[in-house]
Amino acid sequence: MSGTDDRRPGPGPRLRETLRRLPVYVPGKPARGADGVPAFKLSSNENPYPPLPGVLDVAVAAAVGFNRYPDMACDGLVAELAGRFDVPESHVAVGTGSVGVAQSLIQITAGPGDEVVFAWRSFEAYPYLALMNGAVPVQVPLREDESHDLDAMLAAVTDRTRLVFVCNPNNPTGRALRRGELERFLDAVPADVLVVLDEAYREFVRDPEVPDGIGLYRDRPNVCVLRTFSKAYGLAGLRVGFALAHEPVATALRQTAVPFGVSQLAQDAAIASLRAEEALLVRVAALVAERERVVAALTAQGWTVPDTQANFVWLRLGGRTTDFAEACAEAGVTVRPFAGEGLRVSIGETEANDLFLRAAERFREELAD
Ligand SMILES: *Cc1c(COP(=O)(O)O)cnc(C)c1O
Repeated sequence: MSGTDDRRPGPGPRLRETLRRLPVYVPGKPARGADGVPAFKLSSNENPYPPLPGVLDVAVAAAVGFNRYPDMACDGLVAELAGRFDVPESHVAVGTGSVGVAQSLIQITAGPGDEVVFAWRSFEAYPYLALMNGAVPVQVPLREDESHDLDAMLAAVTDRTRLVFVCNPNNPTGRALRRGELERFLDAVPADVLVVLDEAYREFVRDPEVPDGIGLYRDRPNVCVLRTFSKAYGLAGLRVGFALAHEPVATALRQTAVPFGVSQLAQDAAIASLRAEEALLVRVAALVAERERVVAALTAQGWTVPDTQANFVWLRLGGRTTDFAEACAEAGVTVRPFAGEGLRVSIGETEANDLFLRAAERFREELAD
C-alpha cells in the first residue's frame, strides 16, 4: 500500500456523534423470482391493489398543478378528517406519512437524554426516530405470546420518559391489545408523558375487543392517535399520514412539520380516498379474508402463528429465519426477515399468498426430514 489510510477522518464537516449509532437503512429488495417464476413483494405491508379509478383521476388532475406549492396547512384534508372522525379541526395534524408525524412527535417531546419507551420488537422506525433526536430508546421485550408487555412498559417509565409508543396492532407480530388492559395502562402512565397509539393497521382489526384509539384519546390529553394512508388506503407512495391529538400537541406538530411536506397530489388523493372509503373497505375485507385463509393454512401445516389483526403474519423462526426468507425469494415472494428472530409476511394477491404457502409447506417438510 502507498501509505494512505481510507479510514482516516478527512477534513470534511463534523457530523453528529449520534449518527454512529444509527444503522444505515437497507431497503427491501425488489421482488425477483427465478427465471419464469412470478415475483411478488410481501415485505412492506403495502396494499396490493392498484389505486381506485376515482382516486387515480383526482391525483392525475392534481399533477397538472405541481409547478405550485401545495396548501401548507392541508386545510381541505384537515377538514375532511375532522368530519370523518368527528373531532375538532384543531386536533388534526397531517404529515409526510405517519413516520413523518412520529418524527415530529419526538421532536416536540424528547431532547438529548430524554427517554422514549416502546415494545421490542416493534416498528423499526421507533429507535431511529429517538436516536436521530438524541433521545434514548428504551426497548421493552414483548411477552412470550408476541404482544406488548404493558406492565413492564409501565415499569420502564421514569422521570426522563417523555413519550411511549404503543403499536396496536403490533408490527411485525400482528398481536393487538384489548380494551381493559390498554385503558388500565393509559390511566397509569403519568399525565405529563405522551402516549402515542400507532394504529397504522386499524382498518384490518376484526377483534371487537380491540379499542379504537380515537375513543381513548378524546378525554385523555396525553394520548395521541397516529394513522396513515399507506396501508389500507393504498397511498404508500404518496407519503401522507396524520395524528389526532389535543390542541397543545397538535399545534406543536404543525409547528415542527416539514414546510410544504405533503404534496397537493397526496392531499387530494387522501381526500378522495376518504370519500371512496366504502369501496376501499371492501378491498380491506377481502385482504382480511385472505389473512384468515393464510393463517388457517399455515396452522394446518403445523406452524405456530400468533393471532394477527393486521395485514401480515409473523413466524418466529429464530436461527432458521434467513434460510426461510431465501426459500421464499426463490419461490418468487420477497418477505421481511429479522435475522435470528422471525419473519413477517404481508398479505398480498391470492397468487402471491399461494406461492408463499407452498414455500412454507416445503420448508416444513424439509425441517421434518
Ligand atoms: C407502515 C407503518 C406506518 C406508516 O408509515 P407511513 O410513514 O405512514 O407510510 C406507521 N407505523 C407502523 C407501525 C407501520 O407499520
